Amino acid sequence: MFARLPDKPDHDALERAILELWDREQTFSRLREQNAGGPRFSFVDGPVTANRMVLGVHTAWGRTLKDVFQRYKALRGHHQRYQNGFDCQGLWIEVGVERQLGLNSKREIEEYGLAEFARRCREVVVKSSGALTDGSIRLGQWMDWGNDYFTFSDTNIEYIWRFLKLMHERGRVYMGHRSTEWCPRCGTSLSQHELTQSGVYQDRADPSLTVRFPLTDRSGESLVIWTTTPWTLPANVAAAVHPEERYGRRENGEWVMVARFPDETFAEVVRGSELVGLRYEGPFDTLPPGSEVEHRVIPWDEVSVEEGTGIVHIAPGCGGEDFELARVHDLPILTPVDEAGRFYDDYGWLHGTSTGDAADQIVGDLAERGLLVHAGLYEHRYPHCWRCDTPLIFRISDDWFLSVEELRGPLLDANATVEWTPAYMGKRMDDWLRNMGDWNISRRRYYGLPLPFYPCGCGQLNVVGSKAELLERATGPVDELEELRRPWVDAIRIRCEACGDEVERIAEVGDVWLDAGIVPFSTLGWESLEYVREGYATGAARGLTRADLPDHATWEEWFPADWVSEMREQIRLWFYSQLFMSVALTGRAPFRRVLGYEKMLDETGREMHSSWGNTIDAPDAFARMGADVMRWQFCAQPPDRNLLFGFGPAHEIQRKLLRLWHSVTFLTQYGNVESFAPSYADLDGVEDVSAPLDRWLVERTRLLVEEATGAYERWLTVDVIRAFESFLDDLSNWYIRCSRRRFWEGDEAALRVLWHATVQSLRVIAPVLPFLAEHLWQVLVREPCPDAPDSVFLAGWPTASAPDGDGLAAMADARRIVDLGRIARSASGVKLRQPLARLVVEGASPTDDLVAIVRDELRVKDVELGHVEAELVVKPNLPVLGPKLGKDLGAVRAALAAGEFDDLGAGRFRAAGHELAPDEVLVERSGRDGWAIASADGVTVALDTAVDEALGREARVYELIHRVNTMRKEADLALTDRITLTIPSRDADLLEHADWITAETLATSLEAGGEDVALAKA
Ligand SMILES: [Zn+2]
Ligand SMILES: [Zn+2]
Repeated sequence: MFARLPDKPDHDALERAILELWDREQTFSRLREQNAGGPRFSFVDGPVTANRMVLGVHTAWGRTLKDVFQRYKALRGHHQRYQNGFDCQGLWIEVGVERQLGLNSKREIEEYGLAEFARRCREVVVKSSGALTDGSIRLGQWMDWGNDYFTFSDTNIEYIWRFLKLMHERGRVYMGHRSTEWCPRCGTSLSQHELTQSGVYQDRADPSLTVRFPLTDRSGESLVIWTTTPWTLPANVAAAVHPEERYGRRENGEWVMVARFPDETFAEVVRGSELVGLRYEGPFDTLPPGSEVEHRVIPWDEVSVEEGTGIVHIAPGCGGEDFELARVHDLPILTPVDEAGRFYDDYGWLHGTSTGDAADQIVGDLAERGLLVHAGLYEHRYPHCWRCDTPLIFRISDDWFLSVEELRGPLLDANATVEWTPAYMGKRMDDWLRNMGDWNISRRRYYGLPLPFYPCGCGQLNVVGSKAELLERATGPVDELEELRRPWVDAIRIRCEACGDEVERIAEVGDVWLDAGIVPFSTLGWESLEYVREGYATGAARGLTRADLPDHATWEEWFPADWVSEMREQIRLWFYSQLFMSVALTGRAPFRRVLGYEKMLDETGREMHSSWGNTIDAPDAFARMGADVMRWQFCAQPPDRNLLFGFGPAHEIQRKLLRLWHSVTFLTQYGNVESFAPSYADLDGVEDVSAPLDRWLVERTRLLVEEATGAYERWLTVDVIRAFESFLDDLSNWYIRCSRRRFWEGDEAALRVLWHATVQSLRVIAPVLPFLAEHLWQVLVREPCPDAPDSVFLAGWPTASAPDGDGLAAMADARRIVDLGRIARSASGVKLRQPLARLVVEGASPTDDLVAIVRDELRVKDVELGHVEAELVVKPNLPVLGPKLGKDLGAVRAALAAGEFDDLGAGRFRAAGHELAPDEVLVERSGRDGWAIASADGVTVALDTAVDEALGREARVYELIHRVNTMRKEADLALTDRITLTIPSRDADLLEHADWITAETLATSLEAGGEDVALAKA
């Protein structure tokens, strides 16, 4: 017997019960034991930042995909690693702690104390990693929880040190003095790849100023420049003109580019090159730094003819291109603001003012001195700090870089070995590799990888490659080294290897992408001499994880990863940093295949923002839709499009899952009536199948297994879902529907075939819907089959031979005929229960077996294969035909309307000299009187709608049977209960069909009398 199922599943409760079952029976451990000797499938998890206190649904998306493919590979017997990772350092963590402690600047952090600050940061990681783990378990993700890697472990840090030392030995580490994007709140520069993250570029209104720079040698004449960053004007040293463009002098003496003001008339026009070298008064020569500069006009080919005045204000201390121009033209560099974006003291009345606050004062001052031509507002996309949302500025700073040029070729070669899904993401990586600049790896912060750089006055850059080396070279006591982290590590000084002087570490910490990029080496034991139990649980990770540090042999077994998966944004972040470090260390890509996916938006297509109230936390989604429904929503998403996630789509999915639920309920109810006992061996193939629908369902199930397997192998969950949905439709809307009578009659073959098909479908969808599949496996397989595995995940992957394509195509034809027959019937207004005499089919030739099915389904006495006489009305399908035909559309349309066309067969037509394909026309057929016609894809059916007295009586019998069976249900009778039945005396003529009526209603007696239908349990 099958357990009784409720009317609909309570996903949340069902999923919690399955989690308990898995926990109680140690299902995941048993799966791993079972696969221990299997072929390897190597997956490396991209670390999630441990700063949120609840799992977000966007994180759940990635985790679902990872879990789906790990479960699929496990079902196929693969031996795998299941190590989850947490990203634990860097600004994300720091910014959160700053908010928590109410600290607003780097000075306040230092006053608070770096050791305490580091401990608070670690607390955030501890709490967050716990919450993210709980959420992931609830999502159904099977990982080796407790053996996670934490990027702030000393082991991870040491691996990066070793990498950096190697890079230094190859001459690829240098300190650059350059202009970089800078966050004044965080007080640090940002790298090129950090700027590519979503949310960095936001719309913003900035001041738009045109300002006059009076020419020194030409009285009454001036240059007119345009800027959106007033704070950079005090750092102006030059004005750039395009040497080839024409410049004109207005009557009032103002010089501008002619192309920018085509409607104006000019007193004088010259080439830009003739203005080069002219000197002018700087806009802030009233302040000490500007007064010492000789301002002059320089040539620059990049001056825009699209924007501004055609003369560009150059401040090399405040802009990347400006800085490069300063090198070319040997210009002085003024750096007006400090790390916090506030003017230095030598900027007089501006000192201490932030770049934003300075704008109004600068505008006012320029206006007072008669230099302001115009002030307004300018809307543009402007970069913001991805962690704290502060608008970025450009600032000159000394940063540490890894040079990229020698690696560019090998990186491109390595990427060419990687199989990307979707393929365009691989091209994006190529573009990035071709264009990226040197990697800025230093950040002026606190809670991060301490860069192991110890520069010496003698010119030597000492780079420490390990903790042991640090301790060995230390000049003082080392017992206070709590972690390899600020402030503890800063206290240790070492001897310069060149001159023996004592040197100290630079203050900077590393880019977080170093932390994540080293993972394929640090977690797999690259060049680790011995396998160290819990060797990853070092430094800040101590007590949080039991992860081992494997040995080099392990690394060789598991590197490179067979597969990794993250969102598209990671192309320039984690995928890139891993690739960079791996190519530098081994010359090879760290992964063979990548599955990327686009962004998550809310269900209306807006970005999700907590301030907009449209974010969804995973726990809320678990409770309201269930993890399976979330997983379906993630998996149904083509990876090349944004996912619109929400409760609306979830509702749709619940409805689809209800259809699966109803099919299973149907099977269990009829199975229980017949005391059906399934045989586990049937899953390997049901023997002795004779009924055409049963043979078809076996083939249809094979097709599902084949399609789903192919989809998983192509890493496309969306195709898994499509295959499953189409199967479900065939199962419930075709097989069950057409076979109802046989279930009613207790046909065991039908039950066996339905059981086989249902269970096989659960097995292929189990990676996507682990909870529902496991629950139904327990009900349908484990409980009734003594020899069945305890879990669907211990049952392996279904094997099936290739489906019989011809058989499937023939049944598809039959189903099409039935669908058309129903359309014809509903168009003619004849009721579904009304039997009809004839159906004529043209364009398909079903076998006798299938004709019988068509006859039953459409309730017609006869199906004839032959010609359907009908009048054809052909209309243009405008959205398709319009673009194709253009101006010829009118002629084709007129010819079709006049009936002047040739029917070429197979849905094709010719009109006005054009051949029209089936999808380019809309075909309607109207039948002769008394016939209803429907047509699609080259098949036409005609239904004889005439109803004679006998057919009318049969319709009344159907109505009666339906009525009685409804009454049986209302009277709570069991499916097998017998009844006595009385029908109204006016229906006495129906007694002609007494055998039929009693059989369908399980009546032991039938008589006519009285006014109404009456029944009683016999
Ligand atoms: Zn910031
Ligand atoms: Zn030295």
